[in-house]
Amino acid sequence: MNSGSEVGDPQTISTALVIRSQVPVRSSYNEYKQELRYDFFYSCAYCCIAETEAGGMRFTIDHYEPQKARNDLVNVYDNLMWSCDVCNQRKGDRYPPVKARQNGFRFFRPDVDVHLEHFSLEGNILKHKTNIAYYTIESLDLNRESLQRVRDIRRRIYSCDEAVSGGVLALSRFPIDRLPTNIRGPAYRAIKQLVDTYETMADAVETALKSHARSPILDEDDSASERAKQRKEKLAALEGMFPGSWRGPRKVAKGKRGGNPPEPAPDSPTATRPHHNAPDRTMR
Ligand SMILES: [Zn+2]
Repeated sequence: MNSGSEVGDPQTISTALVIRSQVPVRSSYNEYKQELRYDFFYSCAYCCIAETEAGGMRFTIDHYEPQKARNDLVNVYDNLMWSCDVCNQRKGDRYPPVKARQNGFRFFRPDVDVHLEHFSLEGNILKHKTNIAYYTIESLDLNRESLQRVRDIRRRIYSCDEAVSGGVLALSRFPIDRLPTNIRGPAYRAIKQLVDTYETMADAVETALKSHARSPILDEDDSASERAKQRKEKLAALEGMFPGSWRGPRKVAKGKRGGNPPEPAPDSPTATRPHHNAPDRTMR
């Protein structure tokens, strides 16, 4: 564990890593997705993996207090966390009872808790310092193989345990010489242009880090609904030209009688149904 003096001004890392933006009240939590990504530095609230480190893994909106338990918080921004799919699935609708929470057994939240006060690293293994960390590590399996591999890669890029355990989220509160070498240059240049105040410098570093962690695949697709409309019209026209069923038969449950055998396609025996792109679901 590094002491505060080794990581520069301890003030810069003794606060929660996520600072929430002021957002307007909206009717559905899905509408907060882009603000949430930004506020969480395009990283998972729990395992700290950045979108760009996660490869093809989906990111979703997690409800800190699950929807089933706290229906009143479903669309409340402060209850929403940006989360990788694995953490979100594992978290599910876990909702520790009051007595357990009073003893610290609840999930870590990066907008309230200070990462360094709860977690430490031994090699690539995340260790708990508190009950909050113990519960979070064990419930979400924060030492899964994929995360150990990410920590190993970070160790080769970054120079300190805090950045290895907290990723971009931890870097967001770091002095510039602790940044990964590949973004140190852009960050320096951004800062040079904006030397007015410390706040401006911090903004520039934040921007550089955010662009480092952000996956464009998860950005909003502004033309999606227009394209969907056009596709629907084109396919309807085609189906109008060639009447008949354009879908395979529905699966008949095993043992159930009466299902019609699939109709063979006369001219294209190997043709398969086109895949639908999975909609960008957000969950829990
Ligand atoms: Zn995660």
